Amino acid sequence: MRFSLRPTLGLLFAAALSANAQTASHPIQLMVDLTDAPRKMLHAHMTIPVSPGPLTLLYAKWIPGEHMPDGPIDDLAGLFITANGQQLSWTRDDVNMYAIRVTVPEGVTQLDVKDDFLATAAASGFSSGASTSANLALLSWNEVVLYPAGHQDDADIHVRPAVILPQGWQYATALPREAPGKESDTEPGSDGSVHFDSVSLEQLIDSPLLTGKYFAQFNLAPEVTPKHYLDIAADGPEDLKLSPATLSGYGNLVRETGALYQSRHYESYHFLVTASDQVAHFGLEHHQSSDDRVPEKTFVDENLLLLSADLLPHEFTHSWNGKYRRPAGLATGNYEDPMKGNLLWVYEGLTDYLGNVLAARSHIETEAQYRDYLAQDAATLDYRPGRTWRDLQDTATAAQTLYLYGDGSPWDNWRRNTDYYGEGDLVWLGVDTTIRKLTNGKKSLNDFLAAFEGLGGNTPPKVVPYTFEDIVTGLNSVVPYDWAGFLRERLTSKSPHAPLDGIENGGYMLVYTDVPNDYTQAMMTVSGMTQAWWSIGLDVASDGRIGDVLIGSPSDKAKLGPGMQIIAVNGRQYSGSLLNDAIRDATGNTNPISLIVANTGTYKVIGIDYHDGLRYPHLERVEGTPDRLDDILKPMTGSAK
Ligand SMILES: [Zn+2]
Repeated sequence: MRFSLRPTLGLLFAAALSANAQTASHPIQLMVDLTDAPRKMLHAHMTIPVSPGPLTLLYAKWIPGEHMPDGPIDDLAGLFITANGQQLSWTRDDVNMYAIRVTVPEGVTQLDVKDDFLATAAASGFSSGASTSANLALLSWNEVVLYPAGHQDDADIHVRPAVILPQGWQYATALPREAPGKESDTEPGSDGSVHFDSVSLEQLIDSPLLTGKYFAQFNLAPEVTPKHYLDIAADGPEDLKLSPATLSGYGNLVRETGALYQSRHYESYHFLVTASDQVAHFGLEHHQSSDDRVPEKTFVDENLLLLSADLLPHEFTHSWNGKYRRPAGLATGNYEDPMKGNLLWVYEGLTDYLGNVLAARSHIETEAQYRDYLAQDAATLDYRPGRTWRDLQDTATAAQTLYLYGDGSPWDNWRRNTDYYGEGDLVWLGVDTTIRKLTNGKKSLNDFLAAFEGLGGNTPPKVVPYTFEDIVTGLNSVVPYDWAGFLRERLTSKSPHAPLDGIENGGYMLVYTDVPNDYTQAMMTVSGMTQAWWSIGLDVASDGRIGDVLIGSPSDKAKLGPGMQIIAVNGRQYSGSLLNDAIRDATGNTNPISLIVANTGTYKVIGIDYHDGLRYPHLERVEGTPDRLDDILKPMTGSAK
């Protein structure tokens, strides 16, 4: 199919345009050899149709879904360009490190281009983070492909891809396999190769390939058309043993999205799940698949499963909200033009809200677990002093500089990071409960989504851009209200506190007790961190290393800082449970909690003056008020049991 991204304005290399030969009838031939993936090197060979004269080859820079210019050009190596067996010299552009210039000799109609991708990144980051192990690999095609500059739209460049897999490995991808294969085939040909139909460059980069030795494919909600597959590659066969309840939850997810979005915008959908401790952990959305990388034991460890409950619902939701409906500033149509992240509080914030709601509606997690997640999220944002200098809008606008995705970086409570995700949950819960309140429960955000995400009904993958005004118009068509004012107030607020009106309108309130909720406890168990955030204002690793210090908290007043290491608590060697005991024991008296702290080779005794005991967030039902949050979490289909 052809993806209909709209044409864009600036084309950096239009002047260097030489050939438009990469048409559907003369695609770039791309073969990626993955047999060295276990030792972290991918080999690519391209045959690129060209015309004589100057030619610029590009390497993708702005990666869709990552919202930043992080194409991994530093890991491209072994670049050789030849024509009729003769090696051609190339030069890199002086300014754009992603542009390679070469002159095509007279009489030459195609170039042979070889390159290697060094898959040596650490187990952090996004799609170009660690992606291989001895037993599996996730191929993001942008890591290896070079393509001629000068096209209006990257949907106009065509590529005919193929791979060679290590012996005995299976694979899955949303790419259409060349006849006689079937789309759900997971076995390569007898020579280990798999050949795919010619697709646009956009579809290629949008369709990663998962391969591995320990591999399972599950057909989800088989009664639903189009088809949905859960494909998992893991580091051991025991990691593939999903419980019937887990599989049933993902099947429900397929059904619930149909009821919620009233449309689908793909030919078939693949959840490509890598379960490995050797790879980066994140999810990256695509139109017809998602790249979901989770810890190895996710499907066999209840804490890991709970912490990942919203991952697949989130990335799947992006097929509608993010890929199909996309903020105008992110719909650039190519990989060269800078993206604008100002509407990421919709792209990511609304998706974060829906991913968690869908996890509960699909019974991937319980309603109580959803509320525990929401309590943790709300309390984190309510104790976020950075909100007094930086508004929510700025966290979205600055997304392309924020390489600090996720929580846990030093002083993040003052810097703020990608708050448009978690605070997006609160904003959109506020929208949902406000619609329900204004219409006495007759309408909800579901009505907005059916119209906004379901625009045009079922379609093949394509991009329909939107603006802030489109969001406001869509909400007003559900129920007239000052939605522009509602949203702008939350986007520009410098209030020290998070917007908790959605929780209150939902019939709940945020409270603190001395017992961690199940979600907070799972986070502490998995990470080994002790969260004393809402008491003394500290996150501490199992070795006593301080992750962060809450500005304005008792620990801040005691001059503790991130990176310092707590050696002893009240005279005894540090452990998380000793720290909790000390906080508990200081309740109601005047004795400071005494710490011995190491900081860059210097030791110091520090006293923390705090006497209010342990504090962890929970949502508590406010009796006598409408239980709208409970209504929001109810399944829309009869299938979720
Ligand atoms: Zn997302």
